[in-house]
Amino acid sequence: MTKALYADIIVPLAVRGRFTYLVPVDIIDRVKTGMRVIVPFGSNRLYNGIVCALHEQKPTFRNIRSIKDIIDNIPSVNELQLRLWSWISEYYMCGIGEVMKAALPSGISMNRYKPKQEGFIKFTKYFNEEELNRTLDALKKAPRQQELLLTYLGLSGYGTVDGEKPVSKSSLLSGSHSAPNTLDALISKGILSLYSQPVSMISSVTYATEPVKRLSDAQAVACLSIINQLKVKDIVLLHGITSSGKTEIYIHLIDEQLKQGKQVLYLLPEIALTTQIIERLKRHFGNSTGVYHSRLSDHERVEIWRKVAGNDPSGRYRLILGVRSSLFLPFSNLGLVIVDEEHDGSYKQHDPAPRYHARDSAIMLAALHNAKTILGSASPSVESYNNAVTGKYGLTELMERFGFIKLPEIILANTREAYKRKMMVSHFTPELLHAMDDALGKEEQIILFQNRRGFSPYIECPECGWIPVCIQCAVNLTYHRSINRMVCHYCGYTAGIPSKCDSCNNTGMVTRGFGTEKIEDEIKIVFPSARIARMDQDTTRSRNSFNRIIKAFEERRIDILIGTQMISKGLDFENLTVVGVLNADNLLHYPDFRSHERSFQMLEQVSGRAGRRSKQGRVVIQTSDPDNRIIRLVLRHDYKGLFRMQAEERKAFNYPPFSRMVRINIKHKDKILLNQYSEILGRDLKELFGKRVLGPESPVISQVQLWYIKTILIKIEREKPPAKAKQLINEAIERTEREKGASSLRIAVDVDPY
Ligand code: ADP
Ligand code: ZN
Ligand code: ZN
Repeated sequence: MTKALYADIIVPLAVRGRFTYLVPVDIIDRVKTGMRVIVPFGSNRLYNGIVCALHEQKPTFRNIRSIKDIIDNIPSVNELQLRLWSWISEYYMCGIGEVMKAALPSGISMNRYKPKQEGFIKFTKYFNEEELNRTLDALKKAPRQQELLLTYLGLSGYGTVDGEKPVSKSSLLSGSHSAPNTLDALISKGILSLYSQPVSMISSVTYATEPVKRLSDAQAVACLSIINQLKVKDIVLLHGITSSGKTEIYIHLIDEQLKQGKQVLYLLPEIALTTQIIERLKRHFGNSTGVYHSRLSDHERVEIWRKVAGNDPSGRYRLILGVRSSLFLPFSNLGLVIVDEEHDGSYKQHDPAPRYHARDSAIMLAALHNAKTILGSASPSVESYNNAVTGKYGLTELMERFGFIKLPEIILANTREAYKRKMMVSHFTPELLHAMDDALGKEEQIILFQNRRGFSPYIECPECGWIPVCIQCAVNLTYHRSINRMVCHYCGYTAGIPSKCDSCNNTGMVTRGFGTEKIEDEIKIVFPSARIARMDQDTTRSRNSFNRIIKAFEERRIDILIGTQMISKGLDFENLTVVGVLNADNLLHYPDFRSHERSFQMLEQVSGRAGRRSKQGRVVIQTSDPDNRIIRLVLRHDYKGLFRMQAEERKAFNYPPFSRMVRINIKHKDKILLNQYSEILGRDLKELFGKRVLGPESPVISQVQLWYIKTILIKIEREKPPAKAKQLINEAIERTEREKGASSLRIAVDVDPY
């Protein structure tokens, strides 16, 4: 008798661990790891789970349940994907079922999926030139048939070096203006034949594949430096200023990988950026390039999934351009992962779990495939640059713009002065209006940037621009309207609204903040004949809205584009010469230990959009604090200065990269119970980690819907492996969860919550 077989199953639920089931005898021959199966879980519900291991080890618990059925014929998920899930669940301290939920497109079904079929036409056999001429001659008396055959020859490229390309029945009929019976006649004469083949649902425009561009001398040096460093290191950071041609370098490196038969993943932080870059990539790599983002339909997701896995007969994707979730595609043969704009905050998923960082997970993904990773940025994150200067990563720097165009000139416009002198026109300084006027006169284009974060309010002295900061951390305090107090986001310190300014004794502090919509309304009044558009979350809800706005701007149908951080990075417009930053103060005063780093990055990115092709651009930065250290660094485009300053500060306050951070979010609908349990957890953690525990504190948004929220922050020593600390944290959480009456408490853990 054969031994019983057991399967460890991942269920798509927020529960820890894997669950063991018995494999029924009738499916033993078919079941494989990575297949989806139906299993009972909990009282009586059935779930689609994934087999992550098969073994003969009988579990110790009683009442072992059986798998009900297998869903797949072939595994949905490969071994490397399961290992990535497992790493994410351990590192980010969440259930592997939660990773499964994020990773598998909800429509996925490897069997039920039926690619759309379409009729295609081909020759019944190979005709040489002589035979072909004879056939055409024979059709002299049937001119319509002859015409159709000639059209087929043209469309298919028959006899050319590229060989016969598939021609769909519909395109042949419309191309030759023929009726279906003309085609039927040629089919019954045995000249042409009809067959059906799946067509891609994804709009597949065939681009002529252009050879990759010749690199400039500086680019060639950088490219070679990357290649050489990757011989000895797994990760290289490409620090290249805006418009230096980082994308062109990636294209070279991708080309090399594809020629070796490898797959490449190219990660971007924003869906808005995929529009332009996918066109650039398809020009060189044609239809083996796929794009994956959150706006796709379930069917499209499944199709991309299949094309990456290589299970789709209509083609295989070897290059994927995508946002963070494209990490989870079924790659089997990755050679290279590119993380563009690696510093970008949108790589981090905050809610729901898995609260993963796509850059860091991408590095893990690459490692699982024995592949290499390139991180690229004009203003790298402090963590990555630190890894590069300490030698953990390779470092390549590219400090000249393509075509030797100078970085844009930065003009500081002092809003406080302008207000005082009554020179402001609504939110616009004379400097900004002048630059805009000038550009419009030359039919050049303008981008106005107003960060979404501009909505988060802070307190400011209208006379001298002083802003209250935390007495314990290097961050500004945030105004909480609900409690009418200022709170430190990081340590929980709170203070009342100051009755007078600390710096100039002025009484009458004010709250600040305004958004893109208001700017749009006002700019229409100032420039009534300009064509104005806005790009932010509200104007880009529909599927193709990014595309439409970007195309319209490229085709110069928009003069002034107003937008949030969506327009600040990566976009490449030929005729854009002026960038206006409406309120740099908002950026600088975001309550975060990274606010300085982030504001530098944002300002550097957005100014990088200006003057990318033929002439130097201009950037007008409006600020009430032109002497601000960060603004001064932006003025000189001094990234290294920023890094040195940030590294020092982080060291002093023990922030990442000099420590690891874990944040615990605790929620309860009862405020008193929430306080009680978070105190218990806080005390428990302080016994384990001492002063490294900050809080419990009330976060900026201390109540969401009916849930009250507290957070606890733990700084873990960098030098020690984090697994032990994470285990201690988990145990402490479990102890709190076992407290009497704690059943309606919700505790979520966020590792690297920044
Ligand atoms: P980055 O990614 O560093 O911001 P890009 O790769 O977008 O820079 O390059 C900026 C612009 O210069 C793009 O329009 C790009 O097509 C052009 N460019 C860069 N390098 C080359 C090159 N070697 N040959 C032709 N055009 C180039
Ligand atoms: Zn003041
Ligand atoms: Zn503080």
